[in-house]
Amino acid sequence: MKICILTIGNELMSGRTADTNSSFIAREINLQGWQVEAMMSVGDKFDSIKSRLNYLLALTDVVICTGGLGPTADDITTAAIAQAFGLPLYTDETVLQAIKDRFAKYNLRWVENNAKQAMFPQGAEIIANPIGTAAGFALRVKEKLIFVIPGVPYETQRMMPEGVIPILRRYFPQPDQYSAKQTIKTFGLSEAAVDDRLKDIDFAARGVNVGFYPVFPENHVVLISRHKTQEEAQRNLQKTQDEVAVRLQDCIFSYGEKTLEEVIAGLLTEKKLTIAVAESCTGGLITNRLTDVSGSSDYLERGLVTYSNESKISMLGVPAEIIEKHGAVSEETARLMAEGVRKLSGADLGLSSTGIAGPTGGSKEKPVGTVYLALADSKQTVCRHYTFRWDRKRNKHVFSEVALIILKDYLQGKG
Ligand code: AMP
Ligand code: MG
Repeated sequence: MKICILTIGNELMSGRTADTNSSFIAREINLQGWQVEAMMSVGDKFDSIKSRLNYLLALTDVVICTGGLGPTADDITTAAIAQAFGLPLYTDETVLQAIKDRFAKYNLRWVENNAKQAMFPQGAEIIANPIGTAAGFALRVKEKLIFVIPGVPYETQRMMPEGVIPILRRYFPQPDQYSAKQTIKTFGLSEAAVDDRLKDIDFAARGVNVGFYPVFPENHVVLISRHKTQEEAQRNLQKTQDEVAVRLQDCIFSYGEKTLEEVIAGLLTEKKLTIAVAESCTGGLITNRLTDVSGSSDYLERGLVTYSNESKISMLGVPAEIIEKHGAVSEETARLMAEGVRKLSGADLGLSSTGIAGPTGGSKEKPVGTVYLALADSKQTVCRHYTFRWDRKRNKHVFSEVALIILKDYLQGKG
């Protein structure tokens, strides 16, 4: 069975928005063991949508569309599809009520054009949207299957696995109907390097599909195992996961959906340790990420953004002479920042960052992307030094990631 993808939106045609939905959907389809035959994008225009849809339906059995399900006049996907097949539109009262309830819940003023999002072509099977107002739908016409889901990427990312895939499986049942899934999250290797390390594993022979999801700066590997029985699907998954683990061991920080921050939260809680952070080049990002986990007040004592030399001196007790002699971006300063924030806060651990995010401020000895990250406990301080090559935003992100990895390794006794 082959599948085409049609992404719809004027913003895609103008180049203002990059079409990330197509690649996401293609990965999901590949993980199921199916293939994508073609991808196409069109603007929000009746004639374009109708003609491209017909063109793609001639190529395959299934077309998955995203976009154009909003309440405003320029969102016309539903109407265009109904028109393409001569189907009347009807209002689904359950969906309408759900949208109205959502408006009430968030105290939004009801505007009548929102009712448009409860309209579907006759015969459509509605796909619930658990996180937004635009429901999607599946439509069976002329032995073909059309899916329409919202363009908002995180809605697409929820509704593909939860809504679209189950319907696809129903229409196109496979002998290996049971599946088991595992996500393995890694940091420290490029997507190509991950692929290279795994190249000797014959995934197909094990009935396992493998997908690579780069989520900067991490790379996530997703394994889906299929079999006639659930037990065998699970067994094959475990065997394959063990083989992957051996090859990626040093870079894996999570099995399953847990984020790095959540892994750390678990470790800090388990070990009953508290932490304080002193950040320079990351501008609060490390602390921000630690607070992304509910309950972080149990272990995060404080986070200071000590950006200027003066603040490193007055708020952390870093001696002025050290900064003068070695520079604010140096191992010596990073160590004293971590030790300073630990001592002053009374926390068990002190974590610090100092570096050059760029694009200005680099030198020959300390180029843009240089960072020193230090972690202090009552006995010792470790400091690591790296040089990255990204733009400012991504440098900051990867600095924070490495700081959290250092913390995680320490908590797991690998520090
Ligand atoms: P829509 O469902 O057409 O109202 O789209 C809502 C928002 O989702 C748009 O404003 C875009 O920012 C985004 N979007 C739409 N289509 C895509 C796509 N194919 N890839 C990534 N983002 C998209
Ligand atoms: Mg749109």
